[in-house]
Amino acid sequence: MKKAVGIDLGGTYIKAGLVDENGKIIKKQQFPTLAEKNDREIVLTQIEKSIEFAFEDNIEGIGVGTPGVVDDEGIVYEAPNLPCWDKINLKKIFEEKFKKKVVVENDVNTIAWGEYLFGAGKGSKTMICITLGTGLGGGIVKDGKLLRGGKYSAVEIGHIPIDYKGPKCKCGNIGCIERFVGRDYIVERAIKGIREGKKTKIYELVNGDLDKITPKTISDAYNLGDEFAESIWIDVGICLGAMFSGLVNLLNPDTIIIGGGISQAGKILFDTIEKTIKERAMKILSRDLKVVPAGLGIDAGIVSAGALIFQE
Ligand SMILES: [Zn+2]
Repeated sequence: MKKAVGIDLGGTYIKAGLVDENGKIIKKQQFPTLAEKNDREIVLTQIEKSIEFAFEDNIEGIGVGTPGVVDDEGIVYEAPNLPCWDKINLKKIFEEKFKKKVVVENDVNTIAWGEYLFGAGKGSKTMICITLGTGLGGGIVKDGKLLRGGKYSAVEIGHIPIDYKGPKCKCGNIGCIERFVGRDYIVERAIKGIREGKKTKIYELVNGDLDKITPKTISDAYNLGDEFAESIWIDVGICLGAMFSGLVNLLNPDTIIIGGGISQAGKILFDTIEKTIKERAMKILSRDLKVVPAGLGIDAGIVSAGALIFQE
């Protein structure tokens, strides 16, 4: 059985594991990233410790999923939660240190690959995967290959504009989808509605402390039959559906996979996304499409990073 080390690099934790070619985790552990020290040597030492934990002499290689844009040589750019990370060649550093094949990929592209190999995208010909949380990340697998840009990882689905006169996004563009469906922007809708006098159980659930509102509060209110909470999820679903209708017309996927914390909103969100796509995308291109939740669960980052080594 072939094995690989999978490293899921996050702003707070590095999750490391030894993964086999069927996507089973043999062992795993998490380490603090220590990004707040703002020193790349410290973060690199933490990653090396995490690799050493999972390392065995007979592994095929080490897969690393990292925030940011990754080029063909394994150099990372523009990782938002790791300010010390710009233009660092992770592939070269770890290949020299561990004398094994190293594949470095953007974290959500990595998840897309893992979902294709072991999760909800198994057997798909063209699939789009997004993770919905603080931000919106995306990855695409087409004909058994992870889709990348010309030289860089690309597929920054969260920064597809859906409103050319819309609000400014932190990437510098205007009206990006992330600016409507990222965690803080969903919460912002709830706060704005309450300030405008909407009657909603969201207010009662946080005892009037608007700073305590989270997407989960909005889901809890929705499950209690709250109409305002329902309208928020419907609007988030329509935004996503509108964006996906463009991607469906572009790529004609058979599967759209949605993961990340916000996807816990569940059926109301998935149903609205699917309905909006069917209404807006070209009929023939959306006819056989499935919209499904992610299949890999809590260790998706580790399993998927290991899976990077099992690409053709
Ligand atoms: Zn943007």
